[in-house]
Amino acid sequence: MKPKIILILTVLIVLTAYLSLKPAFKQDSKAEQSKKGEKTMLKKVEKTDKEWKEMLTPEQYRVMRKRGTEIAFSGKYNDYYEKGSYFCAGCGTPLFSSKTKYDHGTGWPSFTAPVDENHIAYFDDYSHFMHRTEVRCAVCGAHLGHVFDDGPEPTYKHYCINSVSLDFKPAEEGVEVTKSLNDQPAEKAKKAVKSETATFAAGCFWGVEYKFRQIPGVLKTEVGYTGGKVKNPTYKQVCTDKTGHAEAIKITFDPSRISYESLLEFFFSFHDPTQLNRQGPDIGKQYRSSVFYHSEEQKEAAEKMVKQLEKSGRFRRPIATEIVPASEFYRAEEYHQRYYEKRMKGSQGGCSTDSCTIK
Ligand SMILES: [Zn+2]
Repeated sequence: MKPKIILILTVLIVLTAYLSLKPAFKQDSKAEQSKKGEKTMLKKVEKTDKEWKEMLTPEQYRVMRKRGTEIAFSGKYNDYYEKGSYFCAGCGTPLFSSKTKYDHGTGWPSFTAPVDENHIAYFDDYSHFMHRTEVRCAVCGAHLGHVFDDGPEPTYKHYCINSVSLDFKPAEEGVEVTKSLNDQPAEKAKKAVKSETATFAAGCFWGVEYKFRQIPGVLKTEVGYTGGKVKNPTYKQVCTDKTGHAEAIKITFDPSRISYESLLEFFFSFHDPTQLNRQGPDIGKQYRSSVFYHSEEQKEAAEKMVKQLEKSGRFRRPIATEIVPASEFYRAEEYHQRYYEKRMKGSQGGCSTDSCTIK
């Protein structure tokens, strides 16, 4: 019996390893099909492993040829915003323009679109027990990074690229990619993605933003202050509890992927809406539970959900969440944006005791 079990286990382990690796090297058939015609126009650069090793630095070889990842915040182009173009460090193919570069706060250069979709190849990547879309140079096959759906307007794409896979050339050298399709895919995407706005407050905005950013269909988030009386408040002012503002999150979402009702359900699931003007250890009116509605439909949906929740008996005390019209939203200081992603990656908690002092 025992050797049999060992045999079965061995077969399972080998099979799992094979399956988890195999798709990573197999080109996404959809991407392949859609670009087949155009891609044949690009002359591929092919080199032996030995040739790549000689040509690239050890770190470039590790990232570009062995699909490695440079350490976050270590790359030369992470915090770099000169005007110009980014080329493949392996073959010189133009890949990205500074026009689409932005700070995603995750420690790698981020772009909303490539200069030309034909210069990029997409692959399914099942490594690390998750599914991601790998991005490679279509000409030489160099690993560049991954693309995610959590980018900013107008494409909502987030090309997360390793600095070592790129070579930057400033615009002054006349090498800016003029044939750039930068603006075209962006325009197309603008029309294609319909978006709506939702604003909530549920205690310290660090944790609230982190939680909402995990939801598919949430395109963009911003933390800030709203519902108070002072114009352009600072974090310090809001902390005094005298401005009337709540620490809030403004969400841009794709209603074809997630409904406002589902966002409401989620909102009521992760915080205690029965606590008045506090959330756990965070005490003060700035930590109140609020739905800031942007339309009559949103108002009705929120009121309906509160009624349902009260009827359900899920909470022992009455729901204290205020449902009020959205007023001016003041974006919080940059260091509060995507706080957990930047500093405490993986942590899902709320804020520590007396977070106003810590922040
Ligand atoms: Zn290349």
